Amino acid sequence: MGMTSTILLFALLFAAVAAGWYLGFRQGRLRRRLEEAGNIRNYLQSVVRESESGAGTSLNAVARALAFDAENFEAHLSLGALFRKRGETGRATELHERLRKMKGITREQTDHANFELGRDYFAAGMLDRAELQLQSLVDGQSQFTQQALRQLARIYELERDWHSALTVAERLAAVEPSVSTSAAHYCCELAEKELLAGESAVARRLLKRALDFDAACARARIDLVELDVMAGNIEGAIAALRELLAGDPGVAPVARDVLARWLARLPVPVGQAMPSADALLAAATPENDPPPAASLYMCTQCGFHSRSVLWMCPGCHGWGTLHSQHTSGGGRP
Ligand SMILES: [Zn+2]
Repeated sequence: MGMTSTILLFALLFAAVAAGWYLGFRQGRLRRRLEEAGNIRNYLQSVVRESESGAGTSLNAVARALAFDAENFEAHLSLGALFRKRGETGRATELHERLRKMKGITREQTDHANFELGRDYFAAGMLDRAELQLQSLVDGQSQFTQQALRQLARIYELERDWHSALTVAERLAAVEPSVSTSAAHYCCELAEKELLAGESAVARRLLKRALDFDAACARARIDLVELDVMAGNIEGAIAALRELLAGDPGVAPVARDVLARWLARLPVPVGQAMPSADALLAAATPENDPPPAASLYMCTQCGFHSRSVLWMCPGCHGWGTLHSQHTSGGGRP
């Protein structure tokens, strides 16, 4: 390498380093300026953010500074919701109790405070009190009726009180069509209790009702297949299963797992040969394809994973949201 090119190389290197240093210097100065401006501008938001993350006691300070009058009603409601979010349900309850008795607020505001109080009890795990509180909004004419019904449905799900859950869902269905999915599952829950108790006719009626709510409810269809099997109507069971798989081939792993679970759980009727779940599926599949291998189920809403079929997602409480992920069937549409 000649002297000229060596000098040129050094000059280029120096220029590159200098440019990098200058850019870094400028960026640092800019960042500091932005930080200063941001601190002033976003002070109030940061107070709320701090409170949300549970850091500091600034929320209490805000609560103390805010005058307790109708003008600040909405602000106090927001504070109450933040207390609850932070897990301070006692403070939230106390605030909402005071708010609903506040002088000079509208009927709607009273209802709002009552609804928030119901949510506080729910968050604190006091389901009985939450139920009473929310029921008071459902009985009268309130703008919070719908939200209260939704919360009540969740309470009945936790209590596994499917009759009450269904009653609530029926009321909600008029204004919220999407509730039909959960309503169908409530019917299935009731039907499965009857199935285990040997009340096949009642179970069948409930499963038909589930399909009235949601014609695509695979759970109800699979349980109906099981009812046919129990009644010795194997041909009918295979035909029903074939219809289900033709409509939704992806449901095969679920059907196999659920049928296998039922067949292991229910007593074999006297003098009757019971087909295995695999045999039923093979008979119901075109060209007697072998049923898909063991599956992994994943929630399409929250990504929760499970090795076995779950009708309600433990992660997001969605009904029928877990779908089979892997099938070894191959080539199936
Ligand atoms: Zn989920």
